[in-house]
Amino acid sequence: MTDTIFGKIIRREIPANIVYEDEDVLGFKDIAPQAPVHVLFIPKNEVIPTLDDLQPSQAHLIGKLALAAAEYAREQGLAQNGYRIVMNCREDAGQTVFHIHLHLLAGAPLGHFGA
Ligand code: 5GP
Repeated sequence: MTDTIFGKIIRREIPANIVYEDEDVLGFKDIAPQAPVHVLFIPKNEVIPTLDDLQPSQAHLIGKLALAAAEYAREQGLAQNGYRIVMNCREDAGQTVFHIHLHLLAGAPLGHFGA
């Protein structure tokens, strides 16, 4: 299994500001936030480098990441104004950590995005 910085966060080998945890998902604040709220949600028990590596048997994990992000956003009062979730896949999308993760961005109007 390829290790990443997120593996070290899961194993508590390096510090992170953890804001969400259940049996499958860990959520922690991004170290370089791109919005007032920027939280990363990752699968805890499997390292899947990119979305392109996701196997059908692992598909439920994407739903769990999304549900965790939605639950956190509701709890933080972010759901009414809205939020963005993003998953980058490989270099052209700017992926830098090869352990799939969902970005939750919120707390201000985010505008549209593209190339
Ligand atoms: P990507 O560009 O791969 O979609 O997103 C990786 C994210 O992980 C980036 O937004 C980056 O700021 C964040 N990140 C990288 N290293 C660390 C770290 O050690 N701790 C935390 N909390 N976030 C990190």
